Amino acid sequence: MHELSIATNIVSEVEAAARAHNAAAVSSVTLAIGRLCGVVPGALQFGFEIVREGSLLAQAELVIEEEPVVVWCPEGNHTVELSDMAFRCPEHGCPTPEILSGKGMEILRFEISNFAGTSDMKEEVTQ
Ligand SMILES: [Zn+2]
Repeated sequence: MHELSIATNIVSEVEAAARAHNAAAVSSVTLAIGRLCGVVPGALQFGFEIVREGSLLAQAELVIEEEPVVVWCPEGNHTVELSDMAFRCPEHGCPTPEILSGKGMEILRFEISNFAGTSDMKEEVTQ
């Protein structure tokens, strides 16, 4: 399962970064997933809940933000967000082969709890 290996990578990457910050636990992880990257959010959520067991992320919440598909319209020289996967500018009707965003996946941020364990001492880390 594709999403399971992605979840494994996310957990190990965030755990390594959290350890580098002397974190006792990770409370949440926020991901941006492009609509075109082929990852099914529900399957990723499911995989995450399996692989987080026994890690610093055992109690962590996974927040998934879907990233829209943005393309370049060569006819009107503008960027446009697509609502369907037809890859044509909704304004000019021309093909828009150049995809500017929506293909990738990245860890936007995660929240850690430090060794003092107080809930108000969370730190936000941006990668
Ligand atoms: Zn256009």
